[in-house]
Amino acid sequence: MMPLPVIQDKFECCRCGACCTNIRTLHQDAKEQRIIFRIPDNEGTGLPLWPWEAERLRKIAEERGIDASIEPLQFFYDKKGKQGVIVSYHLNSNSCPFYKPGECTVYGQRPHVCRMFPLISSGIFEFRFGRQPRFARTVCNSDSGAGCYEAGNAKDFAGRMRQYYDDSFIVAVQNDIINYFIASKIKELTQEGVIDPVIAPRELALGRFEKSGKISFMQLLEENGENAEELAETFKSLRDAESLVGSLTS
Ligand code: SF4
Ligand code: SF4
Repeated sequence: MMPLPVIQDKFECCRCGACCTNIRTLHQDAKEQRIIFRIPDNEGTGLPLWPWEAERLRKIAEERGIDASIEPLQFFYDKKGKQGVIVSYHLNSNSCPFYKPGECTVYGQRPHVCRMFPLISSGIFEFRFGRQPRFARTVCNSDSGAGCYEAGNAKDFAGRMRQYYDDSFIVAVQNDIINYFIASKIKELTQEGVIDPVIAPRELALGRFEKSGKISFMQLLEENGENAEELAETFKSLRDAESLVGSLTS
C-alpha cells in the first residue's frame, strides 16, 4: 500500500458560531438544475435538511416551543401523478434557532449539513465524473485545506481530505451519496414510466408545484416499494461513505 501524503494540518473548529448564526450565507451558489429545483432563490435559502432531519428537528422544536420555520427547499413536479414531490427542506432563518452562544443544543441530532461543516460537498464525485473538485469557501474555511484539492486522483484526494477534515469528510461523502441516490432514483422511476418530471425551466415546474397537491420524496419511494425508514437509517449511519472512502484509500 502506498503511504498517504503527509499533511501536517488538520481543520480545527474554534467554536466561533459563525456558521450557526449565518446559515443563509452557507449554501448559496446552487447550480441551475433541470429537474430538481429550489423553491427560494439563493439568498432565501436557509439550512438544508433531508426529510428525516426536517421531521426530527420539527419534533424537537415543537417539544421546546420554538418556531423553527422548516419549509420545503427542493422539489420536482410529476406530470404523471399531477403532484409536487418535495425532495428536501430548509430551516428558513438567518440564525439557527437551536444555537445558544458557544453551543449547539441539538448536537447529537444535528443534520448532515452541520456535521460536514466546513465542507459543503466532498468533491469525491467530481473525480468520479472526470472533473477537478473546486475548493469550497465557507464562513470559516480559509485557504488552509486548499492543499487537498491539488491531489491528482481520487485516491490521493480522499486520503488528504480524510486526514485534514476527518469525520466531516465522511459525512460530506455521505451527503453526496444521498444526492446521487435521489438523482439516480428519479431517473430510474422516469425510465420505468412511474413518474414524468417537468424539465426546466424552473418557473414552469414551480407554477405547477404551487397549484398542486404535494408528497415527500420518501412517500413516493414508499409507494414504489422502498422501505423509506430503513433507507433513512442507512443514510444516517454513514456506512456507505465509510465503505466508499475505505475502498479508495486502502
Ligand atoms: S465550523 Fe467554522 S464557522 Fe462554525 S463554529 Fe467552527 S470555526 Fe466557527
Ligand atoms: S443545528 Fe446545531 S450545528 Fe447546526 S446550525 Fe443549528 S446550532 Fe449550528
